Amino acid sequence: MPAKKKNKKKLRVALRKNRRKRTRKGDLTRELAKDATDIENLPTVERVIGKSDLSRRRTVVGAEIDDDGQLQLAIDESQCLSGRVLTARGLHAIVESTNGTQYECTVRRLLRTIDRASRNAVVAGDRVLFQPTGFDALQEKELGVIERVEPRRSTLSRMSQGSQHLIAANVDQALIVTSAIDPQLKPNLIDRFLVSAEQRDVRSIICINKCDLIDTADLQPLAGRYGRMGYEVVFVSAMTSAGLVRLRALLADKQTVFAGQSGVGKSSLLNALEPSLDLRVGAVSADSGKGTHTTRAAKLLRLGFGGWVVDTPGLRQFELWDIIPEEVEGFFVEFRPFVAHCRFPDCSHTHETGCAVKHAAACGLIAMQRYDSYCRMLNDGT
Ligand code: GDP
Ligand code: ZN
Repeated sequence: MPAKKKNKKKLRVALRKNRRKRTRKGDLTRELAKDATDIENLPTVERVIGKSDLSRRRTVVGAEIDDDGQLQLAIDESQCLSGRVLTARGLHAIVESTNGTQYECTVRRLLRTIDRASRNAVVAGDRVLFQPTGFDALQEKELGVIERVEPRRSTLSRMSQGSQHLIAANVDQALIVTSAIDPQLKPNLIDRFLVSAEQRDVRSIICINKCDLIDTADLQPLAGRYGRMGYEVVFVSAMTSAGLVRLRALLADKQTVFAGQSGVGKSSLLNALEPSLDLRVGAVSADSGKGTHTTRAAKLLRLGFGGWVVDTPGLRQFELWDIIPEEVEGFFVEFRPFVAHCRFPDCSHTHETGCAVKHAAACGLIAMQRYDSYCRMLNDGT
């Protein structure tokens, strides 16, 4: 798909370090022929690939930098469909088009070579433009090539071996799942998840499951406390379906990540919301084994009533929601009015005299349980 002449712009772009070359001759020939239509000076390109310098640059025709500073390649949009990446691994992704058809896509060669902030060219949750390339009769799959990744509204990532590893994009909100009992409700854990989500600029909903086992009146003080801080609190039971109408309304048309300890009922809730998912319940080892999350990529699960759940095996475990201790204070939203009144500007609100936060907690203006969570997070990050 040749770029329109009048739109042609030349840009210097940084290329990523050289990757291992493809070995299958058939693929190589096809890809070169395709790229030749939109990249100037192919022999130069091939020569550049021989170098291993990280800061290699090359001229791309028909590209422009968008408002977010991301490089957008000129593409023929009339040939493309828009879709959502359900899961991605390396340079392969399953993309669902807006009409619900799934395509097995590769990533356009230049797109994956460009030096992006992250090593992941595409991840689950990305919105993309892709070009259908045909039907693979043997595997009975629709095929396509991703031509453009739309700018990401938000990203979830984790540190892995010293580098940031992108897990999912465009997460709208986190559903913090906890159980009323069995395992016991732990407000400190709720606070930890809230701070993690706030640090990532992701809105939180607190979902208390297994409410069939308790009298919800006992949890009203807790619900009131978080409600006053501005958090949505929903009581549910995956067992009796109580509260699910409200939960569905909160999840509709959003990309939501479920977070919570093992055993609180995340899989049961997902099954109750969308029986076709048929997830295994009680599979404690499936998401607690430390080795497993490195091999499983994030996946979007579609909810029949509209909306998506970002199933990120690693992120279900709270230890991966790294807390940055120096930032903790700012994410306890109800501390904010008091912080400015502390005697010392760098007050940590723990041992200092003249601390307005400590004073507010002692007077009941800040819940002692929240202040306790704050101190724990600051001390040991748990
Ligand atoms: P996950 O580890 O968070 O995915 O939790 P599971 O969905 O595997 O559930 C853990 C256990 O809690 C299972 O034995 C479920 O049957 C049970 N469970 C889940 N939701 C409820 C609920 O609403 N009420 C009751 N009584 N038990 C539940
Ligand atoms: Zn203070």
